[in-house]
Amino acid sequence: ATPTAIMVATGVGATNGVLIKGGDALERAQKVKYVIFDKTGTLTQGKATVTTAKVFTGMDRGEFLTLVASAEASSEHPLAKAIVDYAHHFHFFDDPSAPDGYQDHNKESKSGWLFNVSDFSALPGSGVQCLIHGKRILVGNRKLMIESGIIIPNHVEKFVVELEESAQTGILVAYDDNLAGVLGVADSLKREAAVVIEGLEKMGVIPVMVTGDNWRTARAVAKEVGIQDVRAEVMPAGKADVIRSFQKDGSVVAMVGDGINDSPALAAADVGMAIGAGTDIAIEAADYVLMRNNLEDVITAIDLSRKTFSRIR
Ligand code: ADP
Ligand code: MG
Repeated sequence: ATPTAIMVATGVGATNGVLIKGGDALERAQKVKYVIFDKTGTLTQGKATVTTAKVFTGMDRGEFLTLVASAEASSEHPLAKAIVDYAHHFHFFDDPSAPDGYQDHNKESKSGWLFNVSDFSALPGSGVQCLIHGKRILVGNRKLMIESGIIIPNHVEKFVVELEESAQTGILVAYDDNLAGVLGVADSLKREAAVVIEGLEKMGVIPVMVTGDNWRTARAVAKEVGIQDVRAEVMPAGKADVIRSFQKDGSVVAMVGDGINDSPALAAADVGMAIGAGTDIAIEAADYVLMRNNLEDVITAIDLSRKTFSRIR
């Protein structure tokens, strides 16, 4: 393609909200064989909602939710936002199923009710950890609990499995080294997700899902969206390894993701595509930014590249 053709294609992309960082990225997209999709916030809306919160100790429900929300308040993860919203809702309305109006509360009330937190750390791919009232709180998946030496009683495990079988994510909470409760979080698929997966297959492109979430939830979501090849319980660094494993035979691999945890994979991919609503780090690591947050633009991007480069060869 001539420099002019590349410039025109970049312009066409931009008009459609597909930002392309350079002619090389534009050229590579035509040859994509695999598109690896992150799950949370990419295939799903990332607008997770807490469906249930179960306290397994004598702790007061309101206190439990405030503890969890305080721990999650500094996290950028979609799951964290859902939990903070739910607790905020509970705190101000006492009715988690009430309509959305509470979101209009001023900023102060959005954080003034939270407990003070120290020693916060986000553990990408597992959860968060910090100190509240001088005691350690952990919020995240099984792996986080196990690695932190928290015992998961059988009845808690059973509850988590039930959530996962219904495509939800179970978030476990340990306070002062005891398993205190579990939240169930549902995150619906983006409306266009299944159509895009079908469309890619028609174009001869193989869709794959990679996620840090557990196998049971991952399989349930993949089934809904129509993806056969799933890689679950993958840590952020592991996502880049998944990309490299698909590249081994020389295949051109695209990665679509939104999170901090996706940035190594976005960088490792031949074509990294970040969701525009995603984190800055993901956007920086990517070659493409999908500003409309619509997965159809994965197809738009590949199409644009194919059209720009096919005639000339
Ligand atoms: P995905 O790859 O689907 O975007 P992540 O790698 O971000 O998922 O997270 C993997 C898992 O780690 C989540 O499903 C969740 O169980 C846990 N996790 C990550 N961040 C958090 C958080 N801030 N709060 C609770 N759990 C978390
Ligand atoms: Mg994500």
